[in-house]
Amino acid sequence: MCAGRIDLAFVLRAFSNGVDGVFIGGCRLNECNYITHGNYHALNMVLLCRKLLEHIGLNPERLRIEFMSGAEGILYTEVVNEFGRQVKALGPLGQSEGLDRGELASRLASVTKLVPYLKIVNREKLASRFSREEDYKDLFTLEEVERMLRDVISYHIDQEKCRACMICLRKCPVEAIDGGKNRIHVIDQATCIKCGTCFDACPERFGAVRKICGEPVPPPIPEAQRTIARKSKAEKSPTAV
Ligand code: SF4
Ligand code: SF4
Repeated sequence: MCAGRIDLAFVLRAFSNGVDGVFIGGCRLNECNYITHGNYHALNMVLLCRKLLEHIGLNPERLRIEFMSGAEGILYTEVVNEFGRQVKALGPLGQSEGLDRGELASRLASVTKLVPYLKIVNREKLASRFSREEDYKDLFTLEEVERMLRDVISYHIDQEKCRACMICLRKCPVEAIDGGKNRIHVIDQATCIKCGTCFDACPERFGAVRKICGEPVPPPIPEAQRTIARKSKAEKSPTAV
């Protein structure tokens, strides 16, 4: 129904599925039927996605957004035909950019995995709404996107501080945390989408989740060392009757 529903992940998935170009049609700016103005969200997302494509070596012209009303059938036909011709001229995705299939898939997968992180760090820009077209020109720059991807934050659980309260495990949206009762929790870095929920959820008195940037994440502790030895009530107060 609304261009604003088109998520960054949908566009990247389309490219991962092998399409050579993605066209998004939205209602004219400032003519949204709702208060949400989703077409601005779509525009901001496309501007970010074009920089991501450029970063991974794909031609950003493969992604286009145009705004028009439902009554402009002729304009729609012209724009789509023109885009089709442009995409044909660009050639097959990846191949034209000198990337083999494996490399293309791995580059697309690397940015797709970071979509939640990218949406969180860019949430203000993604929601922005300017009145002048030129204000959008540099909404996202390649340098900024490269820095964003270089400075990705990883999350790690400090084995000395984790008290196995299981709060982070229950809140993680992608089940990236391995743990349980009396077990030190561990984040599976391959599954983690870097949303930061565990960092916010870990109680302050434990402060076990650490943010890591610019240095390697320590390897997970071996399974055999994850059990937390709790003191029994008798051990805690030996004189109690
Ligand atoms: S940052 Fe934490 S909560 Fe978010 S996906 Fe990674 S492990 Fe799960
Ligand atoms: S919320 Fe903190 S203390 Fe509790 S299991 Fe997670 S990392 Fe450990």
